[in-house]
Amino acid sequence: MATSPLSRMAQSFTSPALRRITLEVQKVNGVNLGQGVCQLPTPDFIIEAAHDAAKEGINRYTNPRGLPSLRNALAKKFAHYNKFEADPETEILVASGATGAFEGVCATLLDPGDEVVVFEPSYPYHVQCLRRYGANIRFIKLEAPDWTIDFDELKSVVNEKTKFILANTPGNPTGKVFSKEEFLEIGKIIEPFSKCFLVTDEIYEYMVFDGLSHVSAASLPELKGKVITVGGYSKTFSITGWRIGYVVAPKEIADPMTTAMDAIYVCPPAPLQEGVARGIEEFGDKFYNDLTEKYRHHRNLFTKGLADIGLTPLVPAGAYYMLCGYDKLMPELGSYEFVTKMIATCGVGAVPADDFVRDPSKAKWVRFCLAVPEETLQEALERMKKLALVTA
Ligand code: PLP
Repeated sequence: MATSPLSRMAQSFTSPALRRITLEVQKVNGVNLGQGVCQLPTPDFIIEAAHDAAKEGINRYTNPRGLPSLRNALAKKFAHYNKFEADPETEILVASGATGAFEGVCATLLDPGDEVVVFEPSYPYHVQCLRRYGANIRFIKLEAPDWTIDFDELKSVVNEKTKFILANTPGNPTGKVFSKEEFLEIGKIIEPFSKCFLVTDEIYEYMVFDGLSHVSAASLPELKGKVITVGGYSKTFSITGWRIGYVVAPKEIADPMTTAMDAIYVCPPAPLQEGVARGIEEFGDKFYNDLTEKYRHHRNLFTKGLADIGLTPLVPAGAYYMLCGYDKLMPELGSYEFVTKMIATCGVGAVPADDFVRDPSKAKWVRFCLAVPEETLQEALERMKKLALVTA
């Protein structure tokens, strides 16, 4: 007889290493560049817009697909920035963050034993969610520093049980930006399998550097009907606590997904949906260009700082993280040990590779989050200079 009152599902949840790291950094009152929380200020405009919306009475359950104002604003943004058309009545769903959106995708598509292809290093919430739905995950490893895909290997793991290939672009933690050519190649691989989709998580879509452009797979006519797009405003508007995301899917998937998401949590908060809708309508290209520029500046500053300390930054093409090799300074340490040492020596936290790969033993790198004020990055770099002294 079972001795625990907890469900098997509850017992299957694991706490990521970054939670333990956060506690360790707090103990020494240090600088935490671990967790991916965006600590930059939220634009006043959308705070006021959400406040106004609540005052105006937008406080009730919304349509399970989300407020029409937000779906219409999203449709315009998809046409303008992502270069695809989506019907706000039938193809766009507002979700409780990109996390809720991905949960909706899994609830709608997966039965236990179905297969999903995930690129590794991978985002731990994706992996946990897939496991919860009983998916059999086929990992495809991407190697640093270019993170290129071995398409022969990818082709060899896709079969009639594969429900989707998951592409996070720009990627957490690698910063990989998928190209049009890569998506077309993936499209060719899934084309023979009528029940197989390409699911993209584009939450970092406005953070793409070095003259690269963000490509939404849904914009490619060759992939028509095969793409499900997940995204959200946590990172773009610095509102990780608001929980506003979305899914764009073909109608025959979007309809049952609406029913599933309604059954799971009804809808995200109404005034916050409206605040985001008004923000999307208000902000022009300059807002997004400034955002890209800010993160590009953080990336360049941190790249130089890490290299000066004797570490090996893996310069990301997008998103707001930086992976960094430490084997020139402390090759004998595992990734978790290195982070622990860094906290003890200089009070700076990062996430060990353990959270992103199945076998961290060979991954001699850690992830820093750059979504903090510039002064915080400067302070972290200043503190980390001690690392070089410890090894000297
Ligand atoms: N997807 C990826 C790849 C992420 O890195 C994150 C947050 O770190 C999320 C989704 C979560 O987004 P949201 O806050 O919209 O749920």
